Amino acid sequence: MSAEQQNLFSLFDPAPGVHKAPPATGGIVFERSHRARNYRLTLRRDGTAVAVIPARGSVREAERFVAQHTDWLARARARQARRPRGADIWTLGTHVLWRGEMTEIRQAAAGERPQVCLAADVFRVPAFDGDLRPTLEAHFARRGKIELPARTWELSAVTGVEVKQVTVRNQRSRWGSCSANGTISLNWRLVQTPDFVRDYIIYHELMHLREMNHSARFWARVEEVCPGWREAEKWIKRNGSLLGL
Ligand SMILES: [Zn+2]
Repeated sequence: MSAEQQNLFSLFDPAPGVHKAPPATGGIVFERSHRARNYRLTLRRDGTAVAVIPARGSVREAERFVAQHTDWLARARARQARRPRGADIWTLGTHVLWRGEMTEIRQAAAGERPQVCLAADVFRVPAFDGDLRPTLEAHFARRGKIELPARTWELSAVTGVEVKQVTVRNQRSRWGSCSANGTISLNWRLVQTPDFVRDYIIYHELMHLREMNHSARFWARVEEVCPGWREAEKWIKRNGSLLGL
């Protein structure tokens, strides 16, 4: 994994178990972590840039690392600025992407326990106040783990491409992947996208089991089974950020 990739991942995943922060220097907070193996720069959701110093590292070396990654930090800040404010917290009334539509989180009819609905789907929540996002995303992931393998088996039968195993994961940076041994991994967030986008990603991975590359032959195979793939790619480009990807 390149330094750049590592940084992109850590953008969403600040290191746990960090030590108490020394004073900020130049807008960057330096934190020492006994668990970190490498220097790492992250941008937290609150806009704080954090440079993590590994157990045997030095502040001076961390400063050098930061200096080498100022471009990355500028891009990450620009990306963060484009995100709508407060988009990270979900409450009643928030519109979230669900089944391909921006859908309002509504309080479900009074029951014994608090529940919210998104269109026709009902989800139990611990309470109506507070951030509903962690609970709802956990529900979405559970749905994904049921629905996405089922759909993959269907499309595997339709295309005649043999699949050994389907895993559904929490991938921050990709929609799907596959391995030569016939395993397809899918991002649970595909339950939030329109069906044609979900299907395209599955077809895309299925065709990779025939062509492990992005050659013209690969795209011809995709075109054959999923003629709407260009629309799906466009949708992903336009809306991927709604999913925090
Ligand atoms: Zn691909």
